[in-house]
Amino acid sequence: MPFQRMGLSMEPNFVDVFVMGAGIGGSIAALSFARRGLRVAIADKKAGDASYKLLCTHCIQPVAMPVLRKLGLEQGLLAAGAVPTKMAVRTRVGMIDPPGHAYDAAGTLSALNVERRLLDPYLMAHLRASSRVDVRLAAAFVSADRAADGTWTVELDADGARERFRCRLLVAADGRGSQLARQLDNRALMRGENDRTCSFAYFEDVPAAPHDRTLYIVGAHDEAIFYYPLGRRRALLAAFMPKHLPLAGRTPGDRARALVDVFLDYPQSPDLSRARVASDVHGYLDYPSVLRHGAAEGVPFVGDAAMSLDPMSGSGCAFAMIAADMLADEVGAALAAGDDLTAPVARYAERFHAFFAPRAHGIAADSRIGKSQTTIDAVHRQICAEPALQQAFLALIGRLTTPGEFQRAFLTAGSKRRVAEVTSA
Ligand SMILES: Cc1cc2nc3c(=O)[nH]c(=O)nc-3n(C[C@H](O)[C@H](O)[C@H](O)COP(=O)(O)OP(=O)(O)OC[C@H]3O[C@@H](n4cnc5c(N)ncnc54)[C@H](O)[C@@H]3O)c2cc1C
Repeated sequence: MPFQRMGLSMEPNFVDVFVMGAGIGGSIAALSFARRGLRVAIADKKAGDASYKLLCTHCIQPVAMPVLRKLGLEQGLLAAGAVPTKMAVRTRVGMIDPPGHAYDAAGTLSALNVERRLLDPYLMAHLRASSRVDVRLAAAFVSADRAADGTWTVELDADGARERFRCRLLVAADGRGSQLARQLDNRALMRGENDRTCSFAYFEDVPAAPHDRTLYIVGAHDEAIFYYPLGRRRALLAAFMPKHLPLAGRTPGDRARALVDVFLDYPQSPDLSRARVASDVHGYLDYPSVLRHGAAEGVPFVGDAAMSLDPMSGSGCAFAMIAADMLADEVGAALAAGDDLTAPVARYAERFHAFFAPRAHGIAADSRIGKSQTTIDAVHRQICAEPALQQAFLALIGRLTTPGEFQRAFLTAGSKRRVAEVTSA
């Protein structure tokens, strides 16, 4: 039954889509719906346009680059200071660093390091620039109620003043602690324990990374160390340490120094002898992974509200962008046509699960420590030995492929190698 717009559009605060939360997922969802000609409102409790998320190491993985390109945001981000990059992995037994640079031969960009102090205001500026998007900041979610005709009324608290929006589609993009997930009882389908803590800080006077590489060092004691070049001799250093090996214990009283010291343990690390800390050390002591349903009660969830995974995977921003794009793709046409949204939202939830669940389970498995070093080294040795497997591994950690797809590539390469050995013997 087509939706009757006429009566509703007379209401002052009626929109097609109301997005709760103007982080990455919410902003990309709002922009994607607006590009489809829909009227969107987006609200957030954050104070102003320059507000940004501090607790993030902001590497935008390869899997999300098509979404940025589709929305025409890639070039603008580069102009705003984002740094083109490509991941390289230093294992205990060699480098996983196939040939090629941040841009491939066709000129396609692999990944971006973009500080949230740049990214979040950049997205906000695009929301402000769209005549179809109504932005409300310093506005906290109060309640959401569904009417018999399927529309939602959302109530906000803006500094004590109440404001209501009515919408056909309510999008939950209110982050890891999602109030909407609680209200709509969108419980965790998966909770994954995380055996590592995280500490990171910004540094200046660091050397440029060769070929714009973001360096991921796999440590001998289950630690994972990251070097993110940010341009202009600036970099972010991050250490994901097993809980029994806390970073601060290495050099009491100087956590930033301890962060640099971690790199000294690894040969071929960037030269950090002149590095100057340029921020506080941020991080967490625990961060379990959570995966929820893509929709509950007809409300689609995007970003951390739907799925908040171990930050060591560096995938949350990319996944938020992809979910937002997927949602607009599934529901946009039905919204524009005034059709019932039940089936499109259900399709989004199915697609969400099919795409993200295998990746989420793989990431949660990586959060656990104590696996056999001998097995890990043997796997890494094989990957390092074959350029095709190196590419396949980067596709896995760039979240382009699932752990299952990587395993198949790994096993196929192993079979081919054995056949070749037998044939040549
Ligand atoms: C240490 C760390 C490092 C990370 N590094 C990376 C990385 O390198 N790469 C990567 O891709 N991801 C990384 N992530 C994950 C990434 O930060 C998140 O996945 C991403 O920010 C999710 O975006 P979002 O829009 O879903 O949520 P958020 O960015 O959290 O946005 C949610 C928004 O909702 C608003 N909100 C919440 N509740 C309410 C309410 N009641 N009323 C009004 N507004 C509300 C908030 O103010 C916020 O602006 C990292 C995370 C951590 C913790």
